[in-house]
Order: sequence, then C-alpha cells, then structure tokens
Amino acid sequence: MKRRTAIIAASFMLATSAAGMLAWTSTQPARSPTSAPRALIPAGAQLLQTAHYRVHSTAAPTQTQEVASAAESLHAAYMSLFADQVAPSTTPLTLVLYRDADEFARNNRSRPWAEAYYLRPACYAYYGVGSANPHHWMLHEAVHQLNTEVAGWRLPAWANEGVAGYLGASWLENGVLTPGKSDPDTYPIWWLSRMKLTGSLEADVGAVRFIRLRDLLESSGPDINQHVNLYYLHYWGLTHFLFHYENGRYAAAYKQLLARGASTSDFERLIGPIETIEKAWYAYLLDAITTMQAYEAENGIER
Ligand SMILES: [Zn+2]
Repeated sequence: MKRRTAIIAASFMLATSAAGMLAWTSTQPARSPTSAPRALIPAGAQLLQTAHYRVHSTAAPTQTQEVASAAESLHAAYMSLFADQVAPSTTPLTLVLYRDADEFARNNRSRPWAEAYYLRPACYAYYGVGSANPHHWMLHEAVHQLNTEVAGWRLPAWANEGVAGYLGASWLENGVLTPGKSDPDTYPIWWLSRMKLTGSLEADVGAVRFIRLRDLLESSGPDINQHVNLYYLHYWGLTHFLFHYENGRYAAAYKQLLARGASTSDFERLIGPIETIEKAWYAYLLDAITTMQAYEAENGIER
C-alpha cells in the first residue's frame, strides 16, 4: 500500500483506486406511519457496541473495530462542527458492515452500483480490503444518518450529499477526523484531478464540465445519471467552499442554512447573490483541481 499523506493548500486542504459510488435518498421506501423501519442484519453478524453505535458485522473483529472507531471519530467531528445547530442524542445508531464487496452486493437493497447506502435506520457498507481508506464509504453514509436521525434535517441533494462528501472524505488520523482536510484516497476526491475545468465558466457550462450554482441548488441541471461523478464533485466542492472560502467567511451562515433546510431563497439571503457566489466557487474549484494535480504529480499518481 502506498503511503498516505495529507497535503494542505491555502484553501483546499488535501490529505492523500477505483471508482465508486454512493446512493442515498432515491432508494428509500415510503415510511410506514405505523411501524418503525428496521435494519436488515446479516445472518451470523457479530454485534459491537460503542458509545454511539451498534455495529452488526460479518467482517473480522479488527476490521469492525476500525470502522466503529472511525464512525465514533466522525460522530465527534460532526457534533463539534454543528454544536450550535444539533442537540446530542443518546439513541444508538445502527451500522451494518459486510465482510466484503460480494456479500454486500448479495444483500444490496440500493442501486446495483452502490458501494454503500443509508436506508433508515441503518447504514450498510463493506470493509474495503486493500483499499487505502477502508472506512470512507461507511462514513459518508453515517453522515446521512446523522443528518436525518440526529439533526432531524431534510435537505436537498446538494446539501445532504455535500456534507456527507465533505466529512466522509476528511482526513482521519489518530482517532481525529479533521473536517476539510481531504483524503485523496476517498470518493469523490480521487476524481478531482480529472475534472477538466478550463477557466472559462461559460464554456465549461456549455460542455457540461461545470454545473451552474442555481441548477445545483435546485436540482435542475444536466441529468445526474449521465454525470454522477461530476455531481458528487460539485456537491463536495460547494460544501468545502462554503466552509473554507476566505478562512470560512460563509461557514457560520452555511450552518444556519443547513439548519433551516437549505432552500435557494435562504441561500441568497444568508450567503449571497447566486451569480457572485458562483464565480468565487468556480475559481475555488479551479484551485482545488490544481492542488490535486500537483499532489498527484509529486507522488507519481496516475488516475
Ligand atoms: Zn450520499
């Protein structure tokens, strides 16, 4: 395994595969008013209980412990980040960890290409043997779970996937997840260097390399099924921008926006005019791409 390191730039911080995907809301069945949804626990699963999680796992005990510890690190980072917006909960959260991709696929109740998913009340993922970051799929889904079950938020895709992508791709070291310091061995960061923005916003919109901010906020852009990774890069990039642009000038407003449901009208009121923010965000993405390309060149990484 290659050594994994963090790299840090002025705004975009990157900490160091294959393609992957995550799924969320579109596969959730309607909630029954009379019965709470129940997790599907695989036969033979062992239960590991931690401070905030019940982890049902068919993976090796050390792998289960690693993923559970990562989830606890995420939980701490999430509650710290949203300390003013989200009240702590004592209700344990359920994770299901499969031993490998095959077992996950046999039990998959999401889209066929999903690597992990959240289906109330549980997150389902597998341990990524040989993967540089074996827990990031689970962390991404665990953010959706926190957004829904602890924060009680109902967010549009850009915000829900944005926060999940942002925290799920954050650097985890010595039990501490550092939001915004990105791990290059996570989805969608590993696609970033191939996001071929030219510097001409209008040309990139025309060529479907850049999704207009208003279209992203209102899910009115190009067909996501044709541009899945492009969307996830935009979701991640917009949330990273809102937390870190100019030393976090929008971070407090972004948290308020999330807590209010992340509507476009609140975005304009709390963050700023769409066209102005779009230009700054576009430039921010260009910088992030440059940072990632430089990192990969220095480390001999070819995507
Ligand atoms: Zn997601």
